[in-house]
Amino acid sequence: MINLYLNKGKEESLRRFHPWVFSGAVHHIEGHPQEGDLVRVLTSQGEFIAVGHWQVGSIAVRVLSFMEVPIDHAFWVGRLSQAYSVRQAIGLCGRAENTTFRLVHGEGDNLPGLVIDIYGSTAVMQAHSVGMHVCRMEVAEALKEVMGDQLQSVYYKSETTLPFKAELGQQDGFLIRQPALADEQLNIAVENGLRFHIDWLKGQKTGFFVDQRDNRSLVEHYSKGRNVLNMFCYTGGFSVYALRGGARLVHSVDSSQKAVDLVNANVELNFPDDTRHRAFAEDAFKFLDTMAEAYDLVILDPPAFAKHRDAVRHAIKGYTKLNARAMEKIQPGGILFTFSCSQAISKEQFRMAVFTAATLARRNVRILHQLHQPADHPVNIYHPEGEYLKGLVLYVE
Ligand code: SAH
Repeated sequence: MINLYLNKGKEESLRRFHPWVFSGAVHHIEGHPQEGDLVRVLTSQGEFIAVGHWQVGSIAVRVLSFMEVPIDHAFWVGRLSQAYSVRQAIGLCGRAENTTFRLVHGEGDNLPGLVIDIYGSTAVMQAHSVGMHVCRMEVAEALKEVMGDQLQSVYYKSETTLPFKAELGQQDGFLIRQPALADEQLNIAVENGLRFHIDWLKGQKTGFFVDQRDNRSLVEHYSKGRNVLNMFCYTGGFSVYALRGGARLVHSVDSSQKAVDLVNANVELNFPDDTRHRAFAEDAFKFLDTMAEAYDLVILDPPAFAKHRDAVRHAIKGYTKLNARAMEKIQPGGILFTFSCSQAISKEQFRMAVFTAATLARRNVRILHQLHQPADHPVNIYHPEGEYLKGLVLYVE
């Protein structure tokens, strides 16, 4: 294995188990690693400190282990078993009313660069690093061993998540497939007793936003008798929960016609012929400006406005404008669910943007709940960057 030596003193963050080596910390490398190769990370004194995947970019190594262990079948089985035990402890496994959960959440499960979501008997696997891409078959086989007969198929969906510059020409497809299963069985996720079509082939992320499960339940709790507006609805997760919660009407908005078709299909799947729901293919800002209906429960779950650190200021402006517009328009006594899934925006920055929005809208606003990602998207305590989803539930007087 290739040895990588750190600059003097640059092992400090690794001693605190932070799982990244930045390129600026690297003194020299013995040999010429290919992106995705395993490297041994050594201090300037030559002491072993970690083993991980080599990358091109500002993060040079993503650490797999702080112990000198072989990265082999037993390693993958061990890590995946730990991740599975956590989901069992949370109470997410083996429940007919909930067959959808995240099994592996990158650094949160000590597997940087890897995401695995479970939809019934199918796992959808996503690599965010070349290292994980190289290991995909080993991971799939280890996963089958850990989950046994509960797992029939592993679908690999990494076309859009792998580093573009690596030019891997990766195509999505099954790594393991149980041919006896009909597509219909493969493509439905069950979450808290509600059913959703999953579009693995073209859908965003692994096909569904598993991370809003708990927050959707809270929307259900507040929906009774309310007029609900679900902005940036995508699959319509919040809309379907609001309908079950007894909303008077639910309107879903997304700029993509495909998302609007998907939300309509998901409402039909759970509540056939329910006339309380309508979906609009429109820009969210335009919709808020011109909407005729009075809403008293509004959900704002936009895409990440800041995908990188340098986009932060612009993103904060975007969150402020969006929230101000919603607070101006919501009925007195209305409930506003507002989210940011930008990793680059901190909890404090998001809260400040919402605070500014409230002053601009000149409304009296109380914070009822502070929301975050669910337990199956755990945050590694040594890697606080893993905390990405933040939300506030506000009472707007
Ligand atoms: N709330 C969703 C996830 C939202 S993903 C859920 O629970 O599953 C973000 C969505 O915002 C995408 O579907 C995207 O098409 C939509 N979108 C992006 N920009 C938009 C805009 N300006 N107006 C309306 N929708 C937009």
